[in-house]
Amino acid sequence: MSKIIVLDPGHGGSSPGSVGNGLVEKEVVLDFALRLRDKFAAYECEIILTRTDDRRVSLSERVNIANRNNADYFISLHCNGAASSSANGYEDYIYTSPFQSTIGYRDILHRHVAAVWVNAGRANRGKKRANFYVLRETSMPAILLENGFLTNARDAELLKNPDFTEELLMAIVEGTVEALDIPRKPAAPVQELFRVQAGAFSTRERAERQVERLKEAGFDAFIINLDAICPK
Ligand SMILES: [Zn+2]
Repeated sequence: MSKIIVLDPGHGGSSPGSVGNGLVEKEVVLDFALRLRDKFAAYECEIILTRTDDRRVSLSERVNIANRNNADYFISLHCNGAASSSANGYEDYIYTSPFQSTIGYRDILHRHVAAVWVNAGRANRGKKRANFYVLRETSMPAILLENGFLTNARDAELLKNPDFTEELLMAIVEGTVEALDIPRKPAAPVQELFRVQAGAFSTRERAERQVERLKEAGFDAFIINLDAICPK
């Protein structure tokens, strides 16, 4: 049975979350969730979003969506904000008394995602624990990602850069599928091609004569020189 992952874009509706440098957290994380859903489609898993548009969803409803669907993993997507505009970079949270699997999943996800921020010259603020409602009340492993500070000019610039966010979202996907051991969906089968042959000739003249005969008989025909395609 394929694994179920709940993606939880934080905030929404009347709750904008952090705001800074022209970015609004509720919008950034909704964009992330929708793009992540598309990327996870290449893998053997089912993705459920706690919201797919700009609406307020209570914390208890977010948790209920995960619990009633028996999700295997809950990923809450956020961006940070701080009074100090110099605060920057990435951090993630798990519950203060996590399941063992929660710790293992986070270690893998953190390795993938923090690397993207560090490569961009931003701070790795570390693997943190907190008594957040969505981490405490979910009955499966859960993580909350704080993807950069909207209040930091350079972080915000990166979050507006599609190349950076592609890399960031790929890291979230790769970390998740590695943590939960989710295989890729098999590639679509290669289209088979069946060729009907009506003769093989050692001289071009005889081949051309055969083409004429076939065309007169109403068949579409052409010459393929296999030696020219695959020289001996
Ligand atoms: Zn938030």
